[in-house]
Amino acid sequence: MALRFFNTLTRQIEDFAPLEAGRVRMYTCGPTVYNFAHIGNFRAYVFEDLLQRHLEFRGLRVERVMNLTDVDDKTIRGCRAAGIPLAEFTLPFKKAFFEDLDSLRIKRADHFPEATAADHIARMISMISTLMEKGHAYRADDGSVYFRIHSFPSYGRLAHIVLDELKPGARVSSDEYEKENVGDFALWKAHDEGDGDVWWESPWGRGRPGWHIECSAMATGILGPQLDIHCGGEDNIFPHHEAEIAQTESVTGLPFAKLWMHCKHLQVEGTKMAKSAGNFFTLRDLVEDKGWSGREVRYALISVKYREPLNFTFEGLGGARSALLRIDQWTARLIETAAGSPAGDLPEITALEGFGTALDDDLNISAGLAAVFDVIRETNRRLDAGNLASAEAAALLLWLAGVQSVLHLEPEPEAVPGVVTELLARRVAARNAKDWKASDALRDEIASLGWTVKDTKEGQKLIRKN
Ligand code: AMP
Ligand code: ZN
Repeated sequence: MALRFFNTLTRQIEDFAPLEAGRVRMYTCGPTVYNFAHIGNFRAYVFEDLLQRHLEFRGLRVERVMNLTDVDDKTIRGCRAAGIPLAEFTLPFKKAFFEDLDSLRIKRADHFPEATAADHIARMISMISTLMEKGHAYRADDGSVYFRIHSFPSYGRLAHIVLDELKPGARVSSDEYEKENVGDFALWKAHDEGDGDVWWESPWGRGRPGWHIECSAMATGILGPQLDIHCGGEDNIFPHHEAEIAQTESVTGLPFAKLWMHCKHLQVEGTKMAKSAGNFFTLRDLVEDKGWSGREVRYALISVKYREPLNFTFEGLGGARSALLRIDQWTARLIETAAGSPAGDLPEITALEGFGTALDDDLNISAGLAAVFDVIRETNRRLDAGNLASAEAAALLLWLAGVQSVLHLEPEPEAVPGVVTELLARRVAARNAKDWKASDALRDEIASLGWTVKDTKEGQKLIRKN
């Protein structure tokens, strides 16, 4: 089956075909680094990770950009309140963001551009100049430069807004606003007192970019004028992505992104998890304070389809823990049964096909996981009956490796205790001295601590005994 995804732009499920065969250009709006990202934000990033990994599973090469918004209304407000320079204020949140990505096993994007980098600021200024030249932008009496939304006839198409009733000349200068306040939006904000020492020189005097032009400049600067996929959370649809389309297409004259994908918000008791609502958990809250693992949080976030609402609960995390245990125990059983045998044919289980085809169908992860658990149930039945050959178990392990390349939910490799490492080093020395008796004794001692040593061409290998 072909890959099919829901496109926010057309409100339809469409067959996916990249602009260039075999290659996908993907842009995902990244964090605004004014605070620690909450796990609602991470629902968006985990969904994008699943998307990228599934495209790669299907043989596509993905080039992905995730930006860091390190200058906007919120970051400026934050650094002013803290009384420190902007870059100093955002740095710890950038660092924390990367740690959290690793903890949730999110694949690093190929590029993480920062809005404040000189080359990106230069590109923003150059795009705004082009918009001025083409009559899409104007300088208002407050000194800022605005995008004239009536100059772009399809403005509102992504968010399904009809512009007819809008009074010409209505303007919004803040980075975030509601549909009710739709109006010309700021591309370049003239410096004012509230901005402190955050400003860049431009043809329109000192100022700073609006949030929307940042993403247009970084996306096209790195990936070129046209993208295959642009993603974000559903709150990005308006005004952010609507504005990105208007600005970019007015500069390039080409359709910007072919496919727009947005995940539904993570909710807490029926309302959006958001910093402003005060109902949020950071990953740190869950991992450091409450003892959940990044893998468990990943499972909880990934296991509900991106277009379905996901309600955050601790019961949900408990469910993630049990589901992972079931996968882990099954994997261990397969390893034991395969006992190093080469892979033969897969056993005939219909659900084996189900995982990939479910994800092909607009990332239907719920159906994909159901297929995985069907395979587990069926093989466990065969294992109980002593009816699964070692070559079949080995083939199932290969199948599982494919599934895990998408889900990335493998158990953490267990840390080797210091005492075992020490015995291992002594065994190397004994073997170098050809003292086989000592080497065997050390192997037994290591075994008594629960680890098996295998001598391979590359040296000693440690395996945790089940
Ligand atoms: P921000 O740091 O606010 O710019 O948000 C970063 C990303 O997280 C954007 O793609 C947002 O759409 C997304 N996001 C924010 N809140 C939530 C939520 N509760 N659930 C899912 N995604 C969210
Ligand atoms: Zn963006």
